[in-house]
Amino acid sequence: MSRPTEILIDLDALKHNCRIAQSLAPNSKTVAVIKADAYGHGAIDIAQALQSQVAMFAVSSIEEAMELRMAGIRIPILLLEGCFSQQELECAVIQGFDVVMHNREQVDMLAQLQQQKGLTVWLKVDTGMHRLGFNESDVASVFDDLSASQSVNQIVLMTHLSVADEVKNIATQEQLGIFNRCVKQIQQISSQPVTVSIANSAAVQAWPNSHGDWNRPGIMLYGLSPFAEPKDLIEPLQPVMTLTSKVIALRQIQAQQSVGYGNTWTAKRASTIATIAVGYGDGYPRNAKSGTPVLVNGQRAQLCGRVSMDMITVDVTDLENVEIGSSVELWGKNLNANEVAKYADTIGYELVTRMPKRLSRRIG
Ligand code: PLP
Repeated sequence: MSRPTEILIDLDALKHNCRIAQSLAPNSKTVAVIKADAYGHGAIDIAQALQSQVAMFAVSSIEEAMELRMAGIRIPILLLEGCFSQQELECAVIQGFDVVMHNREQVDMLAQLQQQKGLTVWLKVDTGMHRLGFNESDVASVFDDLSASQSVNQIVLMTHLSVADEVKNIATQEQLGIFNRCVKQIQQISSQPVTVSIANSAAVQAWPNSHGDWNRPGIMLYGLSPFAEPKDLIEPLQPVMTLTSKVIALRQIQAQQSVGYGNTWTAKRASTIATIAVGYGDGYPRNAKSGTPVLVNGQRAQLCGRVSMDMITVDVTDLENVEIGSSVELWGKNLNANEVAKYADTIGYELVTRMPKRLSRRIG
Protein backbone atom coordinates (compact mmCIF):
# COMPACT_ATOMS: atom_id res chain seq x y z
CA MET A 1 0.00 0.00 0.00
CA SER A 2 1.33 3.46 -0.84
CA ARG A 3 0.93 6.49 1.43
CA PRO A 4 -2.82 6.83 1.88
CA THR A 5 -3.08 10.60 1.60
CA GLU A 6 -4.95 12.03 -1.36
CA ILE A 7 -7.15 14.75 -2.77
CA LEU A 8 -10.42 13.89 -4.43
CA ILE A 9 -11.70 16.47 -6.92
CA ASP A 10 -15.43 16.27 -7.61
CA LEU A 11 -16.12 17.81 -11.02
CA ASP A 12 -19.88 17.34 -10.76
CA ALA A 13 -19.81 19.49 -7.62
CA LEU A 14 -17.82 22.12 -9.55
CA LYS A 15 -20.42 22.24 -12.33
CA HIS A 16 -23.23 22.39 -9.76
CA ASN A 17 -21.60 25.36 -8.01
CA CYS A 18 -21.08 27.11 -11.31
CA ARG A 19 -24.76 26.67 -12.18
CA ILE A 20 -25.65 28.26 -8.83
CA ALA A 21 -23.39 31.26 -9.52
CA GLN A 22 -24.99 31.65 -12.92
CA SER A 23 -28.55 31.33 -11.64
CA LEU A 24 -27.90 34.18 -9.19
CA ALA A 25 -26.85 36.49 -12.00
CA PRO A 26 -28.72 35.30 -15.09
CA ASN A 27 -27.93 38.41 -17.15
CA SER A 28 -24.17 38.27 -16.63
CA LYS A 29 -21.57 36.18 -18.39
CA THR A 30 -19.23 34.14 -16.21
CA VAL A 31 -15.48 34.57 -16.05
CA ALA A 32 -14.45 31.58 -13.93
CA VAL A 33 -11.43 32.53 -11.83
CA ILE A 34 -8.99 29.63 -12.00
CA LYS A 35 -5.73 31.35 -11.02
CA ALA A 36 -3.20 29.68 -8.70
CA ASP A 37 -3.87 26.27 -10.27
CA ALA A 38 -7.62 26.80 -9.83
CA TYR A 39 -7.17 27.57 -6.13
CA GLY A 40 -5.18 24.35 -5.78
CA HIS A 41 -7.78 22.16 -7.50
CA GLY A 42 -5.78 21.64 -10.74
CA ALA A 43 -6.34 24.31 -13.41
CA ILE A 44 -6.38 21.99 -16.41
CA ASP A 45 -8.94 19.57 -14.95
CA ILE A 46 -11.10 22.45 -13.77
CA ALA A 47 -10.87 24.28 -17.11
CA GLN A 48 -11.70 21.16 -19.09
CA ALA A 49 -14.73 20.54 -16.92
CA LEU A 50 -16.02 24.13 -17.08
CA GLN A 51 -15.12 25.28 -20.57
CA SER A 52 -18.51 24.54 -22.07
CA GLN A 53 -20.32 26.20 -19.14
CA VAL A 54 -18.55 29.57 -18.88
CA ALA A 55 -17.61 32.37 -21.27
CA MET A 56 -14.04 32.94 -20.11
CA PHE A 57 -11.35 31.97 -17.62
CA ALA A 58 -9.26 34.35 -15.51
CA VAL A 59 -5.72 33.59 -14.33
CA SER A 60 -2.92 35.65 -12.80
CA SER A 61 -0.12 35.32 -15.26
CA ILE A 62 0.73 34.54 -18.86
CA GLU A 63 2.38 31.30 -17.71
CA GLU A 64 -0.91 30.14 -16.21
CA ALA A 65 -2.74 31.13 -19.40
CA MET A 66 -0.23 29.32 -21.63
CA GLU A 67 -0.58 26.17 -19.55
CA LEU A 68 -4.30 26.19 -20.34
CA ARG A 69 -3.79 26.88 -24.06
CA MET A 70 -1.24 24.07 -24.30
CA ALA A 71 -3.78 21.75 -22.71
CA GLY A 72 -6.21 22.61 -25.50
CA ILE A 73 -8.40 25.17 -23.73
CA ARG A 74 -9.74 27.40 -26.48
CA ILE A 75 -12.17 29.79 -24.77
CA PRO A 76 -10.96 33.34 -23.95
CA ILE A 77 -8.59 33.84 -21.04
CA LEU A 78 -8.11 37.03 -19.02
CA LEU A 79 -4.79 37.93 -17.37
CA LEU A 80 -5.87 39.49 -14.07
CA GLU A 81 -2.57 41.24 -13.35
CA GLY A 82 -1.98 42.07 -16.99
CA CYS A 83 1.44 41.92 -18.64
CA PHE A 84 4.72 42.50 -16.86
CA SER A 85 6.79 43.20 -20.02
CA GLN A 86 6.53 44.19 -23.68
CA GLN A 87 7.32 40.61 -24.64
CA GLU A 88 4.41 39.34 -22.57
CA LEU A 89 2.06 41.82 -24.20
CA GLU A 90 3.16 40.67 -27.68
CA CYS A 91 2.53 37.11 -26.60
CA ALA A 92 -0.88 37.99 -25.13
CA VAL A 93 -1.97 39.55 -28.45
CA ILE A 94 -0.75 36.57 -30.49
CA GLN A 95 -2.54 34.16 -28.16
CA GLY A 96 -5.69 36.30 -28.02
CA PHE A 97 -5.59 36.72 -24.25
CA ASP A 98 -7.56 39.60 -22.71
CA VAL A 99 -5.39 41.74 -20.44
CA VAL A 100 -6.10 43.84 -17.39
CA MET A 101 -4.34 47.21 -17.45
CA HIS A 102 -4.00 48.75 -14.05
CA ASN A 103 -1.07 51.16 -14.38
CA ARG A 104 0.43 53.67 -16.80
CA GLU A 105 3.42 51.46 -17.63
CA GLN A 106 1.11 48.81 -19.05
CA VAL A 107 -0.81 51.33 -21.16
CA ASP A 108 2.44 52.82 -22.50
CA MET A 109 3.53 49.39 -23.76
CA LEU A 110 0.79 49.60 -26.40
CA ALA A 111 2.79 52.20 -28.34
CA GLN A 112 5.60 49.71 -29.01
CA LEU A 113 3.35 46.79 -29.88
CA GLN A 114 4.40 45.03 -33.10
CA GLN A 115 1.21 43.03 -33.35
CA GLN A 116 -1.71 45.10 -34.54
CA LYS A 117 -4.41 42.51 -33.99
CA GLY A 118 -7.44 43.29 -31.81
CA LEU A 119 -6.72 43.29 -28.10
CA THR A 120 -9.39 43.45 -25.39
CA VAL A 121 -8.22 45.53 -22.44
CA TRP A 122 -9.89 45.39 -19.02
CA LEU A 123 -9.31 48.84 -17.59
CA LYS A 124 -9.08 48.45 -13.85
CA VAL A 125 -10.39 51.19 -11.61
CA ASP A 126 -9.26 51.50 -7.99
CA THR A 127 -12.52 52.23 -6.22
CA GLY A 128 -11.21 51.69 -2.70
CA MET A 129 -9.22 48.50 -2.39
CA HIS A 130 -6.02 50.43 -3.08
CA ARG A 131 -4.20 47.46 -4.50
CA LEU A 132 -4.41 47.75 -8.30
CA GLY A 133 -6.07 50.19 -10.69
CA PHE A 134 -6.38 53.78 -11.86
CA ASN A 135 -7.93 56.51 -9.74
CA GLU A 136 -11.32 57.87 -10.72
CA SER A 137 -9.70 61.11 -11.86
CA ASP A 138 -7.46 59.29 -14.39
CA VAL A 139 -9.95 56.85 -15.85
CA ALA A 140 -11.27 59.03 -18.69
CA SER A 141 -7.82 59.94 -19.99
CA VAL A 142 -6.63 56.32 -19.81
CA PHE A 143 -9.80 55.28 -21.65
CA ASP A 144 -9.00 57.86 -24.36
CA ASP A 145 -5.46 56.55 -24.72
CA LEU A 146 -6.67 52.97 -24.98
CA SER A 147 -9.31 53.94 -27.54
CA ALA A 148 -6.66 55.74 -29.61
CA SER A 149 -4.46 52.63 -29.79
CA GLN A 150 -4.84 50.70 -33.02
CA SER A 151 -4.15 47.48 -31.16
CA VAL A 152 -7.11 47.82 -28.82
CA ASN A 153 -10.36 46.48 -30.09
CA GLN A 154 -12.54 46.49 -26.98
CA ILE A 155 -12.38 47.97 -23.48
CA VAL A 156 -14.11 46.52 -20.42
CA LEU A 157 -14.30 48.66 -17.29
CA MET A 158 -13.63 46.65 -14.13
CA THR A 159 -13.07 47.00 -10.42
CA HIS A 160 -12.60 44.70 -7.44
CA LEU A 161 -14.48 44.91 -4.13
CA SER A 162 -12.57 44.72 -0.86
CA VAL A 163 -15.35 43.87 1.63
CA ALA A 164 -18.12 42.32 -0.44
CA ASP A 165 -18.16 39.44 2.07
CA GLU A 166 -19.33 41.85 4.81
CA VAL A 167 -22.93 42.33 3.83
CA LYS A 168 -23.54 45.31 6.09
CA ASN A 169 -20.35 47.19 5.31
CA ILE A 170 -21.16 50.46 3.52
CA ALA A 171 -17.70 50.52 1.91
CA THR A 172 -19.09 48.33 -0.88
CA GLN A 173 -21.82 50.88 -1.69
CA GLU A 174 -19.13 53.56 -1.74
CA GLN A 175 -17.00 51.52 -4.13
CA LEU A 176 -20.01 50.93 -6.38
CA GLY A 177 -20.78 54.66 -6.30
CA ILE A 178 -17.26 55.55 -7.46
CA PHE A 179 -17.39 52.88 -10.15
CA ASN A 180 -20.77 54.12 -11.44
CA ARG A 181 -19.40 57.64 -11.71
CA CYS A 182 -16.54 56.27 -13.83
CA VAL A 183 -18.99 54.40 -16.04
CA LYS A 184 -20.96 57.64 -16.59
CA GLN A 185 -17.78 59.50 -17.54
CA ILE A 186 -16.89 56.83 -20.07
CA GLN A 187 -20.42 56.73 -21.48
CA GLN A 188 -20.02 60.41 -22.34
CA ILE A 189 -16.84 59.89 -24.35
CA SER A 190 -17.34 56.42 -25.78
CA SER A 191 -19.02 55.75 -29.09
CA GLN A 192 -19.84 52.20 -27.96
CA PRO A 193 -21.86 50.84 -25.00
CA VAL A 194 -19.62 50.42 -21.94
CA THR A 195 -19.20 46.85 -20.68
CA VAL A 196 -18.40 46.33 -17.02
CA SER A 197 -17.20 43.71 -14.52
CA ILE A 198 -17.28 43.99 -10.74
CA ALA A 199 -18.56 40.93 -8.88
CA ASN A 200 -16.50 38.22 -7.20
CA SER A 201 -18.20 35.29 -5.40
CA ALA A 202 -19.36 37.36 -2.44
CA ALA A 203 -20.81 40.06 -4.68
CA VAL A 204 -22.49 37.49 -6.92
CA GLN A 205 -24.32 36.26 -3.81
CA ALA A 206 -24.85 39.41 -1.77
CA TRP A 207 -24.68 42.46 -4.06
CA PRO A 208 -27.03 42.08 -7.03
CA ASN A 209 -26.43 45.73 -7.94
CA SER A 210 -22.81 44.80 -8.66
CA HIS A 211 -23.69 42.23 -11.31
CA GLY A 212 -22.20 43.45 -14.56
CA ASP A 213 -21.82 42.19 -18.10
CA TRP A 214 -19.18 39.85 -16.72
CA ASN A 215 -18.99 38.40 -13.19
CA ARG A 216 -15.79 36.87 -11.82
CA PRO A 217 -16.59 34.16 -9.26
CA GLY A 218 -13.74 32.11 -7.86
CA ILE A 219 -14.11 30.51 -4.45
CA MET A 220 -17.79 29.62 -4.75
CA LEU A 221 -17.05 27.50 -7.82
CA TYR A 222 -14.95 25.32 -5.54
CA GLY A 223 -17.84 24.99 -3.12
CA LEU A 224 -16.57 27.26 -0.37
CA SER A 225 -18.49 30.24 0.93
CA PRO A 226 -16.69 33.59 0.99
CA PHE A 227 -18.79 34.60 4.01
CA ALA A 228 -18.11 33.98 7.70
CA GLU A 229 -21.77 32.84 7.86
CA PRO A 230 -22.58 31.07 4.56
CA LYS A 231 -25.61 32.45 2.76
CA ASP A 232 -28.69 30.35 2.12
CA LEU A 233 -28.74 29.60 -1.58
CA ILE A 234 -31.30 27.80 -3.73
CA GLU A 235 -29.15 24.73 -3.17
CA PRO A 236 -26.03 24.54 -0.99
CA LEU A 237 -22.60 24.80 -2.55
CA GLN A 238 -20.80 21.47 -2.72
CA PRO A 239 -17.11 21.33 -1.76
CA VAL A 240 -15.04 20.23 -4.76
CA MET A 241 -11.87 19.20 -2.92
CA THR A 242 -11.81 16.51 -0.24
CA LEU A 243 -8.50 15.78 1.52
CA THR A 244 -8.40 12.27 2.96
CA SER A 245 -5.95 9.96 4.68
CA LYS A 246 -5.93 6.99 7.02
CA VAL A 247 -5.07 6.03 10.57
CA ILE A 248 -1.56 4.53 10.52
CA ALA A 249 -1.03 3.97 14.27
CA LEU A 250 -3.07 3.76 17.48
CA ARG A 251 -1.91 3.91 21.07
CA GLN A 252 -3.28 4.18 24.59
CA ILE A 253 -1.81 6.87 26.81
CA GLN A 254 -2.39 7.63 30.46
CA ALA A 255 -3.67 10.82 32.03
CA GLN A 256 -0.90 13.46 32.23
CA GLN A 257 1.04 12.02 29.26
CA SER A 258 1.67 14.43 26.40
CA VAL A 259 1.50 14.07 22.61
CA GLY A 260 3.65 15.41 19.77
CA TYR A 261 6.46 17.95 19.36
CA GLY A 262 6.71 20.41 22.21
CA ASN A 263 4.41 18.30 24.41
CA THR A 264 1.75 20.97 23.83
CA TRP A 265 -1.24 18.69 24.53
CA THR A 266 -1.54 16.65 27.70
CA ALA A 267 -4.24 14.03 28.26
CA LYS A 268 -6.65 14.79 31.10
CA ARG A 269 -7.72 11.15 31.21
CA ALA A 270 -6.58 7.80 29.81
CA SER A 271 -6.89 8.37 26.04
CA THR A 272 -6.68 6.66 22.67
CA ILE A 273 -4.53 8.53 20.19
CA ALA A 274 -4.73 7.87 16.44
CA THR A 275 -1.84 8.92 14.22
CA ILE A 276 -2.94 10.02 10.74
CA ALA A 277 -0.71 10.17 7.64
CA VAL A 278 -1.12 13.85 6.85
CA GLY A 279 0.95 16.83 7.93
CA TYR A 280 2.10 20.26 6.90
CA GLY A 281 4.06 18.65 4.06
CA ASP A 282 0.65 17.71 2.65
CA GLY A 283 -0.85 21.20 3.00
CA TYR A 284 -2.46 20.59 6.39
CA PRO A 285 -1.87 23.85 8.30
CA ARG A 286 0.90 23.58 10.87
CA ASN A 287 -0.73 26.16 13.11
CA ALA A 288 -4.01 24.22 13.40
CA LYS A 289 -4.74 24.22 17.11
CA SER A 290 -5.56 21.28 19.35
CA GLY A 291 -9.31 20.89 19.03
CA THR A 292 -9.41 21.27 15.23
CA PRO A 293 -12.12 18.92 13.94
CA VAL A 294 -11.10 15.81 12.00
CA LEU A 295 -13.46 13.10 10.74
CA VAL A 296 -12.36 9.57 11.57
CA ASN A 297 -14.62 6.87 10.13
CA GLY A 298 -17.16 9.66 9.61
CA GLN A 299 -17.13 10.59 13.33
CA ARG A 300 -15.93 13.96 14.58
CA ALA A 301 -12.73 13.86 16.60
CA GLN A 302 -10.22 16.52 17.64
CA LEU A 303 -6.64 17.18 16.68
CA CYS A 304 -4.34 16.95 19.68
CA GLY A 305 -0.78 18.25 19.81
CA ARG A 306 1.26 19.91 17.11
CA VAL A 307 0.99 19.13 13.40
CA SER A 308 4.17 17.38 12.15
CA MET A 309 5.44 17.39 8.57
CA ASP A 310 3.85 14.05 7.67
CA MET A 311 1.51 13.24 10.55
CA ILE A 312 -1.11 14.53 12.92
CA THR A 313 -2.41 13.00 16.13
CA VAL A 314 -6.09 12.85 16.99
CA ASP A 315 -7.90 12.03 20.23
CA VAL A 316 -10.28 9.18 19.32
CA THR A 317 -11.04 8.06 22.88
CA ASP A 318 -14.80 8.47 22.49
CA LEU A 319 -15.04 7.08 18.95
CA GLU A 320 -16.17 3.63 17.91
CA ASN A 321 -14.43 1.06 15.72
CA VAL A 322 -11.28 3.01 15.01
CA GLU A 323 -8.47 0.81 13.75
CA ILE A 324 -5.34 1.06 11.65
CA GLY A 325 -6.58 1.78 8.14
CA SER A 326 -9.69 3.68 9.28
CA SER A 327 -10.54 6.43 6.83
CA VAL A 328 -10.03 10.08 7.73
CA GLU A 329 -11.36 13.27 6.15
CA LEU A 330 -9.38 16.43 6.90
CA TRP A 331 -11.76 18.68 4.96
CA GLY A 332 -14.13 18.40 2.04
CA LYS A 333 -17.56 16.87 1.50
CA ASN A 334 -18.37 16.28 5.17
CA LEU A 335 -16.17 18.78 6.97
CA ASN A 336 -16.05 22.27 5.52
CA ALA A 337 -12.55 23.65 4.85
CA ASN A 338 -13.70 27.03 6.20
CA GLU A 339 -14.43 25.43 9.59
CA VAL A 340 -10.98 23.82 9.74
CA ALA A 341 -9.39 27.09 8.60
CA LYS A 342 -10.76 28.97 11.61
CA TYR A 343 -8.72 26.74 13.93
CA ALA A 344 -5.61 27.69 11.97
CA ASP A 345 -6.35 31.44 11.89
CA THR A 346 -6.82 31.40 8.14
CA ILE A 347 -9.51 31.01 5.48
CA GLY A 348 -10.62 28.11 3.31
CA TYR A 349 -9.13 29.89 0.26
CA GLU A 350 -5.64 29.44 1.68
CA LEU A 351 -6.07 25.84 2.78
CA VAL A 352 -7.14 24.56 -0.63
CA THR A 353 -4.76 26.74 -2.64
CA ARG A 354 -1.54 25.52 -1.10
CA MET A 355 -1.82 21.79 -1.71
CA PRO A 356 1.61 20.38 -2.59
CA LYS A 357 2.50 18.29 -5.61
CA ARG A 358 3.34 15.20 -3.54
CA LEU A 359 -0.31 14.45 -2.85
CA SER A 360 -1.99 12.02 -5.18
CA ARG A 361 -5.07 13.39 -6.82
CA ARG A 362 -8.16 11.52 -7.90
CA ILE A 363 -10.76 13.05 -10.19
CA GLY A 364 -14.29 12.00 -9.42
N1 PLP B 1 -11.59 39.05 -9.44
C1 PLP B 1 -10.35 39.37 -9.05
C2 PLP B 1 -9.69 40.56 -9.64
C3 PLP B 1 -9.69 38.59 -8.10
O1 PLP B 1 -8.45 38.91 -7.72
C4 PLP B 1 -10.36 37.46 -7.56
C5 PLP B 1 -9.73 36.62 -6.54
O2 PLP B 1 -8.95 36.99 -5.75
C6 PLP B 1 -11.65 37.17 -7.98
C7 PLP B 1 -12.24 37.97 -8.92
C8 PLP B 1 -12.42 35.98 -7.41
O3 PLP B 1 -12.67 36.19 -6.06
P1 PLP B 1 -13.46 35.09 -5.18
O4 PLP B 1 -12.59 33.89 -5.17
O5 PLP B 1 -13.59 35.71 -3.85
O6 PLP B 1 -14.75 34.86 -5.88
